[in-house]
Amino acid sequence: MLFECWEMVDGSVILGTVESNRRNAPPNERCRLVHSVDLPTLEEAQAVHHLRMGWEPFKPMGKAEPCPTCGAFYYPEHTGKCYRCVLEAEKRLRLTRGCVELTPEDWDATLDELVAPSPPSEALLKLLEEG
Ligand SMILES: [Zn+2]
Repeated sequence: MLFECWEMVDGSVILGTVESNRRNAPPNERCRLVHSVDLPTLEEAQAVHHLRMGWEPFKPMGKAEPCPTCGAFYYPEHTGKCYRCVLEAEKRLRLTRGCVELTPEDWDATLDELVAPSPPSEALLKLLEEG
């Protein structure tokens, strides 16, 4: 998942996905793209973000726990997303015919839906079955 760090006109910086930045950082309030990083989870993107900004090491909220699906460590109290499950979901999306038509915003939203705690929508399941 692509995360972008934008400097805002008020001097603050914001880190988010293309989709979340579209909501939280309107183009007219953005100054410049500081950096971008392509990683499966926000926790990992935040860790790199802190390194690049010269800040203290990033600490996710809560304790790491084994993912109930695959056993890799994840942070249920932070984003609750497991990097390995996100990578798997990305692989499935890439294999799915037609996903090349997805815009970055659609890609993020579809991926969110795939790795969300709730089951994916019928439309998404149909798309994956067709692939
Ligand atoms: Zn997992």
